[in-house]
Amino acid sequence: MADCDVAIIGGGLNGTSIARDAAGRGLRVILLEQGDLGSGASQASPRLVHGDLAGLERREFFRVRRALRERDVLLRIAPHLVRPARFAIPAHAEERPPWQLRSLLLLYERLASRSGLPRSTTLDVTHHPVGNALKRPFGTAFEYSDCVVDDSRLVVLNAVDAAARGADIRTGARVTRAERSEIWRLVAIDRGYRRVITARSLVNATGAWTASVADTVLRVPAPPLATVQTSQIVVRRLFDCDNVYAFQNADGQLIFASPYARDFTLIGSVSHAFKGDPAIVAMGVREVAYLCDAANRYFREQITPADVLRTISGANSVVAPVRRRSSDGAASLDFRRGKAPLLTIFGGDVTTARRRAERAVSKFSRFYPMTPRWTATVPLPGGEFAWQRFETEVEIARDRWRFLSEDEARRLVAAYGLNVKDVLGDAKQKADLGPAFGPELTGAEVRYLMRKEWARFPDDVLWRRSKLGLTMPQADRDALAAFMAKGD
Ligand SMILES: Cc1cc2nc3c(=O)[nH]c(=O)nc-3n(C[C@H](O)[C@H](O)[C@H](O)COP(=O)(O)OP(=O)(O)OC[C@H]3O[C@@H](n4cnc5c(N)ncnc54)[C@H](O)[C@@H]3O)c2cc1C
Repeated sequence: MADCDVAIIGGGLNGTSIARDAAGRGLRVILLEQGDLGSGASQASPRLVHGDLAGLERREFFRVRRALRERDVLLRIAPHLVRPARFAIPAHAEERPPWQLRSLLLLYERLASRSGLPRSTTLDVTHHPVGNALKRPFGTAFEYSDCVVDDSRLVVLNAVDAAARGADIRTGARVTRAERSEIWRLVAIDRGYRRVITARSLVNATGAWTASVADTVLRVPAPPLATVQTSQIVVRRLFDCDNVYAFQNADGQLIFASPYARDFTLIGSVSHAFKGDPAIVAMGVREVAYLCDAANRYFREQITPADVLRTISGANSVVAPVRRRSSDGAASLDFRRGKAPLLTIFGGDVTTARRRAERAVSKFSRFYPMTPRWTATVPLPGGEFAWQRFETEVEIARDRWRFLSEDEARRLVAAYGLNVKDVLGDAKQKADLGPAFGPELTGAEVRYLMRKEWARFPDDVLWRRSKLGLTMPQADRDALAAFMAKGD
């Protein structure tokens, strides 16, 4: 008998979403990730959970409606990670006429009929906080509702839930060989040790590595795909309001500027075809300048490449030929007599990842008995509250742990939801939480991340399970590295 029903290679959003879905449907699952969870493309998404307004202009009405439904599902099952936001589109004289934008938004809202999010409106930005940060010529902006997400925590919490349902999640486990017969026999280098795993079926969810894993590890033909790099920049906060700005750049490209980790602004994105090793994806100087120029076209506060505090880049496989980006991604099942099934899944938006995984796992129903679809209604860990109660949960946390500032409580509830109690325990004062690393991170939180969320190295904590790397002084990083090396 094989060790498991489904072995998944790749711990990005696609791999962990499949692990969660399959484990909850009664399958024995193992997931093997060569680095950290979400260390590939899944940490470099534009962080939007949306129907994709631009899809309406391409007349993709059904796709937009489906994505909007998924947006509402995610808001329900992950009210801590997925937060509603007001998006503002300043009306620019050289772009779409205001009536056209207004009609697009009305249609968008119609397609999202049951969301419960505030409706769109026209703003006179000469008298509205949205206008404070904008250059002078802007008189009108359109405001509508969509959502933003903490993309890397979404990956991690999928894995946490999968593990709670019996999945074996292995990070630092690189699959180097796979033999296919009636079952799969995988060889992995698992934290330095060679390990052999047998599985009744295999999922290749390796993102930008899909083709190379198919070619060199699985030795099967790779599906037709292309690799695309997407990049964004992080700069100091350029505006005080909580809105996400959506700008149409002079070349027609849509650029978003969103509040990021409280004191910063994320600007993106810019994409191009990618060649090379997906483990080394760097943003070029021209792309940095492009995004600075795009922001300077709208914001009063001008930025130069020297103001860029961090660049975020990821490479991902997309369906070829790349005529337009497919938000659904691709999932194909290969099975033949005497050969164990192979599912290959890549690409797609964050918004549709849950549904993509659900449909992909359902493809295995012809091979194994499994329980019905379930992930649309069961909250992710810590998300057992209604999204409208987010601020109430922040207040409850402040009431219980009185030493927390409002900002600290908000960050912790956004990251852990109701599971913040497992991070802070019965602490009465900050000193009860162990050593401090920078202004916010405590030993208790690091310990929780190491024990429950597979964090092994400082970057796992500072960039993927939080964004505290943006504010942490070097001496504190060194202390954190020493603390984690002790395995505390
Ligand atoms: C170019 C690009 C455009 C995007 N556009 C959008 C967008 O517009 N909207 C949106 O919502 N999202 C977008 N996304 C992000 C979206 O988050 C990703 O498409 C999604 O996260 C899918 O990730 P994945 O799991 O397929 O790949 P990844 O997150 O890259 O995961 C693959 C994992 O496989 C692992 N792996 C590889 N080889 C092996 C091996 N041999 N053994 C073990 N592990 C291995 C890697 O380490 C990696 O962690 C974009 C991302 C990028 C980079």
